[in-house]
This record gives sequence, structure tokens and C-alpha cells, in this order.
Amino acid sequence: MRIRADNPSPMTLTGTNTYVLSSRDDRSALLIDPGPELPEHRETILAEVGDRRLAAIVLTHRHADHSEMLGSVEHWAPDVPVHAVLPEFSRLAPPVTDGDLIAFGDDDADAVRVVTTPGHTMDSICLLHDSVLYSGDTVLGEGTTIVTHPEGSLGDYLESLDRLIALLEVGEYSRIEPAHGPTIDHPAEVLGHYRRHRRERISQVRAALEQGARTTTEVCDIVYHDVDPRVRGAAEQIVRAQLSYLGALTADDRP
Ligand SMILES: [Zn+2]
Repeated sequence: MRIRADNPSPMTLTGTNTYVLSSRDDRSALLIDPGPELPEHRETILAEVGDRRLAAIVLTHRHADHSEMLGSVEHWAPDVPVHAVLPEFSRLAPPVTDGDLIAFGDDDADAVRVVTTPGHTMDSICLLHDSVLYSGDTVLGEGTTIVTHPEGSLGDYLESLDRLIALLEVGEYSRIEPAHGPTIDHPAEVLGHYRRHRRERISQVRAALEQGARTTTEVCDIVYHDVDPRVRGAAEQIVRAQLSYLGALTADDRP
């Protein structure tokens, strides 16, 4: 079950998707990304959980549009463990690592498996359950995700994409449920597009450097000349990640 928060923006698309997974016997539930601190969103989530026991909360990464509601978790889910990569978000449970199984019911199938996918941020994870990949912001339902510097890393992101493609190829999942935008029913196509898009941008940045561009601003003016002004700041962050990946981030550009 997907519940979309009412926080639309150029960065969050139509809003953050929160997911509620139900156990086989329908008696317990797991929550993925509580989302922003919006009372109506919380009410909708708790109504969806209903009489089920909320067994676990999992955070796909640190960004506020996914994690903010955890700030008040002791009020709305006082005994529920929060599973996250970063210790500061983990609660009543140790920080998660790759391959961890987070159980939320009595059946062996009532568990999500953690796939660490650093890149968008260094603490980004995806979750596997029932042939579905819950991708957080690593893969989005529309457009492509952003990789910023120094919060994320383009080299790690490219490796994470390769890993998701490899998991798809061995049949670990057939559908992606992203944290923003609609379901992805054709993951091979989308992941292939993501990889091509990244490589294309990297060659554009290389070309801009060859033309003499040096700073983030100069590279951004060339590579992202047609970007929506509202997301220019994000574009500059992406350029910083690209320059860092290429080892071309100049001293005055380092944050
Ligand atoms: Zn994010």
C-alpha cells in the first residue's frame, strides 16, 4: 500500500511515497519512510496500519522528506524499532547493514532484505520483498535521481546501479516502487536509461572541461544551460559530484 505525502515540489515530484507492507496473516505491518511531518499524512498512515501491529519502521535514507516524521516517533509509535544505516536515525535496533533481514511477521516471508545502495546519499538503501524493490531515492518513478557532493558519490552511485541491474538479471525483483513518482513496471529499461544518462552527463562534463570551463558555475552553465531555475542549486550540486568523480573539483569549489 502506497500513501503519498502532500509535499510536492520540483525535488519531491508529486510528493514522498510512504509504503505500508502487511504480513501474510494480515496481523502486522512494516512502514517504509514515514515521510514529512504532516499531521494528515501521519493520520493516513496510522489508519492504513489500522488494527495491525506496527512491527518495524525502515528509513531508506536521511533526507527530511523521508525522515522528518521520525522526530515525533516516540509519540505515534513509541515501541516500534526504526531501522536505518545511520545510528542517529536508528532506534531500538542496531544500524542496518547489507543483507540484513528485517522481520515484521510470523511467516518467514514477512521480512524485507536490505540492499545497501550508496550514491544519492551515502546512507541510501533499497529493500527487497516479494519480488518488489523499494528503491527510496536511488531510482525514481519519473526523471532521474540526483547525486550531490559531498553528501553522495557518483562513483558509488554507478556501482549501486550496476548492482541493482545484476539483482534484476538474477530475478530478485520484477517491479520497483520508488519513494517519488509512480511504480516502475519495466525496471531493465529504466535502469539502463539511468546508466546511459549518467555516462552521457559525465562525457558532457569532460567536454566542458576540455572547452576550458573550470569552476562548478562554468561547467553548470554549459551542461545544465536549459535547467529549470528552481533546481539550478541542485544542478550545481550534481556538477560538484561529477567534477569530484572526475577528480577535477577545484579548491575554490570544495564546500
Ligand atoms: Zn533523497
